[in-house]
Amino acid sequence: MTTRQENLLDWLRDAHAMEQQAENMLKAQSKRLEHYPELKARIDQHIEETLGQQKLIDECLSRLGGSSSTIKDMTGKIMAFGQAAGGSLMSDEVVKGAMAGYVFENVEIATYTVLIAAAEAAGDFETKAACEQILPQEIAMAEWLLEHLPEITEAFLIRSEDPHLEAKK
Ligand code: MG
Ligand code: FE
Repeated sequence: MTTRQENLLDWLRDAHAMEQQAENMLKAQSKRLEHYPELKARIDQHIEETLGQQKLIDECLSRLGGSSSTIKDMTGKIMAFGQAAGGSLMSDEVVKGAMAGYVFENVEIATYTVLIAAAEAAGDFETKAACEQILPQEIAMAEWLLEHLPEITEAFLIRSEDPHLEAKK
């Protein structure tokens, strides 16, 4: 059997690994972007939010007596590295990156929705409050990306047609 507290701790560790992956992915995207300043600025804002989220999850983990450095954290780093490296080889990386970002934010939304329910069930109201603080930031980022995907696409298409311009980043 597995207690509510054990499941909560497991899912908090998963969330910690996810946020490390988010940081790596967002930083890799921001570093490469040159011709899409609005997207880059929104990503930079979310990097700051992501660092705050990591701190909140860290605090929950240490309060529950669990460490955050697990094999899963390493897996996340390797996966993010692979994504970043893979993205830079694509001629449409800005569009694929924004799409991947939207997918990633929705994974985060699902993760914190589960964590809020699990924290409530375990009677851990500090973890619940932390996750309720994080969730709206993920929803806002997902909404921003969805709203801006059409104009990112249009800007990419216009730059692609011009032989003197770079479109991919
Ligand atoms: Mg996040
Ligand atoms: Fe996020």
